[in-house]
Amino acid sequence: MAHTCSTMVLHCMDFRLGSAIRNELETRGILNDCDIVAIAGAGKTIVSAEPASWHEAALSHIELSKKLHAIKKLIIMNHTDCGAYGGRGAFEDREAEDAQHHADLKAAAGIVKEAHVDLEVETALVQIDDDGSIRFESVT
Ligand SMILES: [Zn+2]
Repeated sequence: MAHTCSTMVLHCMDFRLGSAIRNELETRGILNDCDIVAIAGAGKTIVSAEPASWHEAALSHIELSKKLHAIKKLIIMNHTDCGAYGGRGAFEDREAEDAQHHADLKAAAGIVKEAHVDLEVETALVQIDDDGSIRFESVT
């Protein structure tokens, strides 16, 4: 029996995302049909060569997920108030924060698609509001 799954999810290590991401994947029906990789900053690790070990870990896990489990799709999930970006305080306002994530997610998707033309890449920004509520926004 082949051991394959449809998707790899790359998201940030941040503990606040845990149940929200699991719920999202369950709602999509892929919770047990995806490889899950958590690295601080998620998409940032693809666009930024530093730290090199994070960058290499992200890229090599995409390769590995394809090789081992024949994934057809990668979902990159960034989130707001991310420590790898210096937190919410590193930005002038929410618009600037969103813009940075959108730019990085688009760039990350471009880099992955260049290396893996056969891979569908989806990007999302997980909004963590100041009251702790969490919602998913598709980024295209
Ligand atoms: Zn984070």
